[in-house]
Amino acid sequence: MRLILMGPPGAGKGTQAKFVADHFGIPAISTGDIFRANVSQGTPLGVEAKRYMDAGEYVPDKVTNLMVRNRIDEPDAQPGFLLDGYPRTLAQVEELDGMIAFTGHRLDAAVVLTVDDDEIVQRLLQRAQVEGRADDTEEVIRRRQELYAQETEPLIDVYRKHGILLEVDGMGDVEVVTQRIFDALDVIPES
Ligand code: ADP
Repeated sequence: MRLILMGPPGAGKGTQAKFVADHFGIPAISTGDIFRANVSQGTPLGVEAKRYMDAGEYVPDKVTNLMVRNRIDEPDAQPGFLLDGYPRTLAQVEELDGMIAFTGHRLDAAVVLTVDDDEIVQRLLQRAQVEGRADDTEEVIRRRQELYAQETEPLIDVYRKHGILLEVDGMGDVEVVTQRIFDALDVIPES
């Protein structure tokens, strides 16, 4: 099973990614988490990524693509994977297509969580208090939402045209949303 999980910042991707990946026995690969791990370990990748993340900007495609390529080459990702937060640009879509085609597989589904804007702002402000993420300030949140609308939302149409888009209502309790994702995925045959 090869899946991607999309949605605006605060849509609950990370939470749902873990449940869905566990269910299929595949790793949940979050580019945001990998960047944050590198930042806290002070690696060269982390130093590079931090500049962009703190401003709410996307890390350059070249850097992100290479990181994802290395990660999905690892043994645990051979049976499949769920990508959370990647791809986020059209260039990343093309890169991912190439990576998957090279292994003789295909992307099974692109799940998009839809949420309303007011709810998102509330969730992000709450997360800012709980987790203290450096990029959860109001100004940076606004920039991330703007970039999502400009750079990432157009990907929804791309995957719709590929015939693999599954739109899932992301509003409501965590378990309810998880169940909706499973219901949506039941219609997708395994590759
Ligand atoms: P959120 O979805 O809440 O905005 P993430 O944890 O997914 O947060 O990502 C945090 C930050 O990491 C992003 O704002 C961006 O700077 C960087 N990042 C994550 N994934 C990508 C990606 N695919 N391309 C470029 N930058 C990324």
